[in-house]
Amino acid sequence: MTLYFDHAASTPVAPEVAAAMASVLADPALQANPAADHPPGRAALAVVDAAQAAVATLVGALAGEIVFTSGATESNNLAVLGAARWRRARGRHVITAATEHASVVAPCRQLEREGFEVTWLRPGPDGVIVPAQVAAVIRPDTVLVSLMQVNNEIGVVQDVAALGRLCRSADAWLHVDAVQAAGREIVDVRAAQVDLLSVSAHKIGGPKGVGALVLDESRVQRLDYLHHGGGQQRGLRPGTLPTHQLAGFGVAADLARAGLTTEAARLTALRDQLCAALTAVPGVRLNGQGARRAPHIVSVSVPGVEGESLRLALEGLAVSAGAACDAGHGEPSAVLRCLGHSGELARSTVRFSLGRGTTAAEVDAAVRLFAVGVAHARRLAPAA
Ligand code: PMP
Repeated sequence: MTLYFDHAASTPVAPEVAAAMASVLADPALQANPAADHPPGRAALAVVDAAQAAVATLVGALAGEIVFTSGATESNNLAVLGAARWRRARGRHVITAATEHASVVAPCRQLEREGFEVTWLRPGPDGVIVPAQVAAVIRPDTVLVSLMQVNNEIGVVQDVAALGRLCRSADAWLHVDAVQAAGREIVDVRAAQVDLLSVSAHKIGGPKGVGALVLDESRVQRLDYLHHGGGQQRGLRPGTLPTHQLAGFGVAADLARAGLTTEAARLTALRDQLCAALTAVPGVRLNGQGARRAPHIVSVSVPGVEGESLRLALEGLAVSAGAACDAGHGEPSAVLRCLGHSGELARSTVRFSLGRGTTAAEVDAAVRLFAVGVAHARRLAPAA
């Protein structure tokens, strides 16, 4: 049996979520198009409304401020491209970080091709972008700042409220990728003065293929649309809404909110147990040391072993070699390179991520497998 330590890549669907989705799919009264103006349509719309309310409550927004998307990749694209293009008459400067998720980095590269100037911040050795770095580069023509709350590879937490204050005073819109923060950290768009925020259902026990972009209505009335079609969701993201997906997302959001305090505390204890045991293995280094870290991610690097042999030696563990989204192209992670890791050390990095089902016994078992795997990989590929 494989031990699942890859909750940052995707979480198992919670049983309550699966039940809610199945009941929407099976209910003859909920089969209509939620945009249709007749009683069955309105019954389907009630499912959408409930999901909007649940997601809004999770992030401190109003129900009408939730725009559903196909996932956070789309939310991030819509936020970055949609906001910058919409505000281009005001200015063409954007601030982000080299350590953002690919679904922020790639749209920012696209903006560069369109004539925007993008300032790429690099974190300090602890992996954190500090507000002073933004303050040093923000200017009157900065239209958008896009920085994540919790880094998906190493779990470090950024001070979103301080970024919010800074961006507000410069009238730059702040977009926050809160995919890894939702359900693990407090996410509150109003308190933190966030203008645009991305979340994804499958990172909080919901189904894959659905997410949301949250807009502060008092600040962001429009974006340059990515999709053109019918007028659903005020035209911001047209298309027939997937009622069963949204039912699942809504229940996942409710569960995440209800369990936030207890689950964050439980995961923090497990994370600390994992962290202490992993770093007790000789030579193993914790990434993001010194920074505040989210409760569910532990990233370690193992000097002196070859990445591929380490991966093979950890067969019984479902962990990530970095970000799952980057796993395909074999390049060392940009995040780890920014931390000063050599390409070799970046490749011998393992991310453990915990979630609802993780137990202390599993953490012990994972550490045992890891210690044996590291010893094996060291024998196979001794340090030069
Ligand atoms: N941002 C972050 C920080 C993520 O971890 C992920 C998922 N890897 C995404 C965005 C993309 O989310 P989705 O899978 O819903 O497209």
